[in-house]
Amino acid sequence: MHLPYTVEQVADALKVHKNTVRLWIKQGLPVADAHRPAILAGADVRTFLCERRVSRKRPTGPGRFYCFRCREAVRPAGDMVDLVPRTDRLGALQGLCPNCGALMHRAVAMARWRTAAGDLDVKILQGPSARNRDDNPHAQS
Ligand SMILES: [Zn+2]
Repeated sequence: MHLPYTVEQVADALKVHKNTVRLWIKQGLPVADAHRPAILAGADVRTFLCERRVSRKRPTGPGRFYCFRCREAVRPAGDMVDLVPRTDRLGALQGLCPNCGALMHRAVAMARWRTAAGDLDVKILQGPSARNRDDNPHAQS
């Protein structure tokens, strides 16, 4: 997962067309800048696709999170969330559901988390190495 991949290798692995991978890159999938041809990190691809799938299924605006227990989009309790970096370029916003107290996740590109967080109070937590790997949004879907 942490090995670098070319566009062709990602397309092969996921059984999609190369142009589909190029479209994802246009849509924000991070690539290593200095490399030609483009090099992608497996963890970035996985997180990008997870974010995409969730946001398609559960459209939520800035500052809103989908609670899986209540099955609705809500503002986090106290208007507060934590930003947890997962990789250099991708992270997750985490907040508590005001109705049931469940932990809610939202994957975000590190460059764009301010947009996703809207007007919420955001506390930035430590990098991936400091986190328990079991605690990740993929486990829920
Ligand atoms: Zn809830």
